[in-house]
Amino acid sequence: MSGTFYAGNDVLNNLWQQTKHANPLNVESQSLTTEIDVDVAVVGGGFSGLSTAYHLAEYGLKVAVLEAAEIGAGASGRNVGLTNAGLWIMPEKTEQLLGASQGQKLNQLLIDAPLYVEQLINRHNIDCDFTRNGTLHLAHSKAAVNYLLARQRQLTAYGAKIEFIDRDCAYQKTRAKGYYGALLDHRAGKLQPLKYCQGLAQIAQRCGAKIYTDSAVLDIVKNNNQLVLTTAAGKVKADKVVLATNAYETHLNYAKALYTPLHYSQLATEPLTKMQREHCLPEDNGCWDSGLVMRSFRLDSESRLLLGTVGNIHRQNASGFKYWAKHVLGKTFPELGTLKYQYAWSGKIAKSHNNIPQLLQIDNNILQIMGYSGRGIAGATVAGKEIAEYLTDQKSSADLALPFNQAKIISFNQLRATVYELGSQISHLSDHLIR
Ligand SMILES: Cc1cc2nc3c(=O)[nH]c(=O)nc-3n(C[C@H](O)[C@H](O)[C@H](O)COP(=O)(O)OP(=O)(O)OC[C@H]3O[C@@H](n4cnc5c(N)ncnc54)[C@H](O)[C@@H]3O)c2cc1C
Repeated sequence: MSGTFYAGNDVLNNLWQQTKHANPLNVESQSLTTEIDVDVAVVGGGFSGLSTAYHLAEYGLKVAVLEAAEIGAGASGRNVGLTNAGLWIMPEKTEQLLGASQGQKLNQLLIDAPLYVEQLINRHNIDCDFTRNGTLHLAHSKAAVNYLLARQRQLTAYGAKIEFIDRDCAYQKTRAKGYYGALLDHRAGKLQPLKYCQGLAQIAQRCGAKIYTDSAVLDIVKNNNQLVLTTAAGKVKADKVVLATNAYETHLNYAKALYTPLHYSQLATEPLTKMQREHCLPEDNGCWDSGLVMRSFRLDSESRLLLGTVGNIHRQNASGFKYWAKHVLGKTFPELGTLKYQYAWSGKIAKSHNNIPQLLQIDNNILQIMGYSGRGIAGATVAGKEIAEYLTDQKSSADLALPFNQAKIISFNQLRATVYELGSQISHLSDHLIR
């Protein structure tokens, strides 16, 4: 497949699509063609929507998930697959932004979230290639070591099991050159994200949730005390609606001004040989680095090496990306020799105004969750649980760890998106001179 890794459609050669379960729901996925009545309609079949549906159905509510395309068509089926703890921003920054009490609640929820994902996977035997070998946050410069040490101190205060390892130890664990040390998070791991998303769909369905794919919600109107959601061939009457469309919102237009879309792309090589494996991530950790234009490295279950970075890969720039990847992997893992690429794809991150996920009350009976800012595997899983607890009156808005109604309109968000994209492309070009 090498040389034809990019076929002109941005998800055609997404590795996760090619290695997902053939029929995760054990039924033909079906689009909505009738009128149904439910307690809660969830719009969007990614981690947020499916975790919300699973938890609500477990509490006994009648739930339907409406997905415009297929399960995991958005960010949930395109990401790096690291079950990271906490947010990009420091825990103390979260406390400053939200106030001590709210900030501490959110930090605790998100720092423990990888453990919740692991519990869910084990409890339901979700087959998603999950391994918990720890993740490594690599220091790309000497100065970044101090940042990582501060991060370790702040995360450890919340009970995270995070260790700073020095340059030699980081090299032994990764065989990656050019790094000055790393934070090893013993509670985090990696998974095949689309399989995990399919697993969430399956457990939601087992608890009684109805899942409809190829069923974009075209509009939502109020009719007496109910909400009516219209799709091309059906209708859903619901008491409550949860919008979980994040950066992939189509047809509806509730949140577009509330996040900046940020692309992140990945390339996957052919499976490494046994000998190559000895020189590349021998302990099978998921890694990302502290560079401003971040890079990520991980192996999949068949020992393909995945390299990721900020920026959008598409037909016009695919060969440039491949050239950049050759440079980066040549410098980072020089013993690997020439590598052939099988897959390349990208996804959109919804970056909120403060890098904190946002829960919004759009209307009395409509909630929206969005803006994980690149930290949404564990984050969206626990957000779904929180939303279900709120909708079943087990938690009030004041009890929620998720900040409620704090989202802000981001001025010039499309222009910002263009600037981030240009900045990342320029940075990749300059990597040939600098890194
Ligand atoms: C490339 C990339 C790498 C990432 N890496 C990581 C990582 O390693 N670790 C981590 O924790 N996080 C990571 N993230 C973030 C994480 O993937 C997201 O935060 C998470 O997947 C968001 O899930 P979601 O369900 O909210 O949204 P999505 O998965 O985007 O789902 C939204 C769904 O809504 C559907 N939809 C939209 N409009 C409609 C409509 N009108 N009707 C019906 N359905 C509709 C879409 O089709 C889509 O399937 C990454 C993100 C990207 C893009």
